[in-house]
Amino acid sequence: MTPAKRIIQVALSSPFRRLFDYSLPDESPEPLIGSRVAIPFGHQKSLMGIVVSKNSSSSAPDKLRDIHGILESEPSLNNDLLKLCRWCADYYHYSLGDVCQVALPAILRRPETIKDSTHSIWEITSQGQSTALETLKKAPKQQEALGHFQKKTILDTGATKKNKISPATLKTLTEKQLIEKSERKNSLKSLNTPTETPLLKETPLLLNNEQDKALQTLQYGEFNTVLLDGITGSGKTEVYLQAIEHVLKRDEQVIVLVPEIGLTPQTVTRFEQRFNQTITTLHSGLTDKQRFTIWQKAKLGEINIVIGTRSSIFTPLPRLGLIVVDEEHDNSYKQQEGVRYSARDVAIIRAHKGNIPLILGSATPSLESLQNAISGRYQHRLLRQRAKSQPLPSIECIDTQESDIDEASLRHIQTALEQNQQVLVFINRRGYAPILNCKDCGWTSLCENCDSRMTLHRSGYKQHLHCHHCDKRSVVPPKCPQCHSQRIKPLGSGTQRSEETLEKRFGGVPILRIDRDSMARKGQLEAALAKVNKGEPCILVGTQMLAKGHHFPNLGMGVILGLDQAFFSSDFRGAERMGQLLTQVAGRIGRENHKGKVIIQTRFSDHPLLSLLLNEGYEALAKHLLSERKLTGMPPFEHITLIRCHAQQAQLAEEFLHCARQIAQQIIPAHDGLQYLGPFPATMEKRNNRYHFLLQIKASNRKERQYLLQQLCERLESTKQARGLHWLVDVDAQDF
Ligand code: ADP
Ligand code: ZN
Ligand code: ZN
Repeated sequence: MTPAKRIIQVALSSPFRRLFDYSLPDESPEPLIGSRVAIPFGHQKSLMGIVVSKNSSSSAPDKLRDIHGILESEPSLNNDLLKLCRWCADYYHYSLGDVCQVALPAILRRPETIKDSTHSIWEITSQGQSTALETLKKAPKQQEALGHFQKKTILDTGATKKNKISPATLKTLTEKQLIEKSERKNSLKSLNTPTETPLLKETPLLLNNEQDKALQTLQYGEFNTVLLDGITGSGKTEVYLQAIEHVLKRDEQVIVLVPEIGLTPQTVTRFEQRFNQTITTLHSGLTDKQRFTIWQKAKLGEINIVIGTRSSIFTPLPRLGLIVVDEEHDNSYKQQEGVRYSARDVAIIRAHKGNIPLILGSATPSLESLQNAISGRYQHRLLRQRAKSQPLPSIECIDTQESDIDEASLRHIQTALEQNQQVLVFINRRGYAPILNCKDCGWTSLCENCDSRMTLHRSGYKQHLHCHHCDKRSVVPPKCPQCHSQRIKPLGSGTQRSEETLEKRFGGVPILRIDRDSMARKGQLEAALAKVNKGEPCILVGTQMLAKGHHFPNLGMGVILGLDQAFFSSDFRGAERMGQLLTQVAGRIGRENHKGKVIIQTRFSDHPLLSLLLNEGYEALAKHLLSERKLTGMPPFEHITLIRCHAQQAQLAEEFLHCARQIAQQIIPAHDGLQYLGPFPATMEKRNNRYHFLLQIKASNRKERQYLLQQLCERLESTKQARGLHWLVDVDAQDF
């Protein structure tokens, strides 16, 4: 009798929320849990899967397919990360395989073997040690380099770059047998004992009472969450830095999450100035190879401080001791494609499972976090004074129908410039104008693929129409396509139009436009910021790219345009977002040298929510909105899940969701704490030639919801679906 096949369970990326059994070929070694394997699946020759359990039994062991091979000897996902991925899969209702794909860097998602990476290092030879530096005085570069080696003995690639030792110099020193090159599996970090260099490069600031109280609240080595609710400039970052210092002294590691476009060079510099440590940054600008290298170093325990955007929450850090989520209210923490997870919420779970502290920081906390603080789940620490006791800016409204910068605002800008101040013009719309419109027949520039207008982009004489939803571009028609009138005009304003207005009015003053179009190329943002930081009078005009993370010392005045839509937004979070954005933008003004001034251009200066915000501040607005949400049973009091579906024909998507609703009602009929709404079309029904529909499930009890969704997904997976139909679950949905 042949010995029984060994069977393993594998997670792989597929539309099915389940694990799959595979057999091991007789000659195969045992894979470890969490390691990557190559497997056949359906018609696909080879996929990457993660081993999640061994020795499982199968009802039909003979039908199982063999794995192709084990891709690594060390598992990519350790036990803790695998558990975190499982939580995400269960909570967000995606397959574990899909979640693992999100957690892993792109290179590891492919069914390919990865060689153990090695690092080049250079070590001084005994000849090098005994060579007097004097003898190299004719070759100053070599002399300097050898000096470094005599002090440090070993340098790796990073250290040679840091000390500005060129490859040519390394080569010459090697040829002279003063140093020697070799390859090591671990990089240098693990060789150097951390006690060699002091932890800090600069003395921490003396905390004020509020900051100190916040820092003292945090408990290390156990799970606790502090909501650091501090106005912009109140010194939240200083609190993070000192908490991190404490964690590093415990020989632990830290993850700092920042919003997508909040990872500014300034932020990184503040960390670099404080700590004698490499600060590792993770953001969308990295290549696959760079991400992979960071992942590997992190796994080996060679990285202590990671600052990064959303997916950095999955960085493997064996001694993680603290997570900081900066600007915790920011939208970009919620992934809007693929697995719809919230990095902030995953951070809470990671801290809980790892029994470590968590800081959620914001000047404008989300209503979710605020409610958790009110109910006592989080410790709530307020920082209500600016650290350098600069006054907050004065805010005034200008009532106007003008969509571009109003004449009154222009005069205020003039005054600020005359006082040598810098000015910020915030307008949350890129391009020249959101609409191209015919004055005679009313024709507007619509996108063929979407229920949306095409934005006019114009710089100098060049212009085109661009749909911001499907990326379609087209030429600007010379005449109205409908009535052939010549009178087609841009309506409304975006950053380019404001830039033009400012150029006409303030010729000679540098005007820097900061939005996704102007900052598309690498290094452009850095260059623009460097200019601003010189402090000379200039005007910054930009979108929310300007509102996050920056610190402009000489910014004395700001104009805010185009917030009016927020008051009439169909999104129930519209007012919350408006309050956050306004407060954040105003917070950039008058931070160091001036009492700033902020002007809001609006058609609704007496809108009650705006008045509440301006007279009593974000906290008062937030509390008011919370009471409204409680009354209407909206988040955070009840939880909203959307089943999203899109198809090439509207009817298909709608029918599918009707069917989903029926199945859901069979599983749990609607009752007071569980309501079904829809299907209804998404705010933008047609997008990129597909029709989007939603089914809303509102639940007061998360456990009941979890049960419902789990059953519902299982049933929907097995229903016969129309071709080309796509559906997904969006737990704790942010957008409609
Ligand atoms: P936030 O992160 O809340 O916007 P920051 O940490 O950037 O605030 O602090 C704003 C400014 O105040 C920075 O220039 C910082 O160096 C300074 N600062 C912070 N804390 C203190 C303190 N305790 N004493 C003096 N200056 C401080
Ligand atoms: Zn017309
Ligand atoms: Zn479009």
